[in-house]
Amino acid sequence: MKIVSIESYVLTDKLKESFYFSQWGYSERKICIVKITSDSGHIGWGEGYGPAGVIKAGIEHITPFILGQNPLETETIWGIMYRRTLDFARRGVLMSAVSAIDVALWDLKGKVLNLPVYQLLGGKKREYILPYATGLYFANGNGENLSKELAEEAASYVALGYKAMKMKVGLGIDKDIAYVKCIREAIGPDVKLMIDANHAYNLREAISLAKAVEEYDISWFEEPISPEYYDQYAELRNKTSIPIAGGECEYLRFGFQTLLKSNSVDIVQPDICATGGLTEAKRIATLASVYGVELVPHTWGTGIAIAAAAHFITNLDTIPGRLNSAECMMEHDRTENGLRDQLTSTNMTIKNGYLELTDEPGLGIFINEDALIKFSSCDKGKRTIDTIR
Ligand code: MG
Repeated sequence: MKIVSIESYVLTDKLKESFYFSQWGYSERKICIVKITSDSGHIGWGEGYGPAGVIKAGIEHITPFILGQNPLETETIWGIMYRRTLDFARRGVLMSAVSAIDVALWDLKGKVLNLPVYQLLGGKKREYILPYATGLYFANGNGENLSKELAEEAASYVALGYKAMKMKVGLGIDKDIAYVKCIREAIGPDVKLMIDANHAYNLREAISLAKAVEEYDISWFEEPISPEYYDQYAELRNKTSIPIAGGECEYLRFGFQTLLKSNSVDIVQPDICATGGLTEAKRIATLASVYGVELVPHTWGTGIAIAAAAHFITNLDTIPGRLNSAECMMEHDRTENGLRDQLTSTNMTIKNGYLELTDEPGLGIFINEDALIKFSSCDKGKRTIDTIR
């Protein structure tokens, strides 16, 4: 079996309403996805996390090295991509291109073998995953009604059945404390609440905020400080009872080794579509297990990335093992995203707040061809039935 084509698409969706986080605002969603076809007619879909146009260029750069390879040999192909990009991609967006191709190959392999990706990864370790809602951004930047809007949004996630959610902090310590209090009051004591600063703070500020919100039962404080300051993360961990999370800006098992060796985090958060795909994420999970550190992937983007995370988490080992193991969480972005909502359909379901996978082959997603054409402005003449699966 051979790879006969690798096609990438940049998808763009203008948002009806911009949203903001601790660094800047977004007015559109832009994502690069990739379609890989084998000479047997099977198709796999992947996605890269990061600047879509650059990822597309990266995929085009890598394509000649892997055309003609056997798509079932995911690890062999990963090795080729790694060695061909090693001098330029130990960190950064070219690794997202590698990740997109790797995810597509796992999807394709599952379809060829008629098995779900979680079985190819080694099997099902749990029946259910606990998705947590990501949202609670700073709508309209810093509006007067933000407290009310955040409380209403948080309550809407509870009404949808979510048992956990993550909010943004990073507007300034005093404002953050007020918004955390307001959301905790809106959701009550039984729903898990995490905070994410997107590295808005220095060490002193992060310690102040962490100590001030400890009373609101925060399940983790994500990216409190810039990801380069490993030692400061370690110091923060020693000064708060809130678990510290990070790693969405980290790449490859080598990057995670630095993070883990420095005792910087309680929870590592590799993004499968950036850190090296499913092949490398599995190695990172093994490495995290060596250090006894929990792993909850950073998950963003379309249904392709969400499905990749769901299959990965289904296969993830819980450390430590025990009779009643802790639930494994999965990030579930709830902010406006037409690409996420319209590009794919899936038989995955969320019931009573828990996500349940099906045993559809590959990633178990179906591509909506009309949405692909609409968001990528691709040539309608290229429309073929094989883009559906
Ligand atoms: Mg984050």
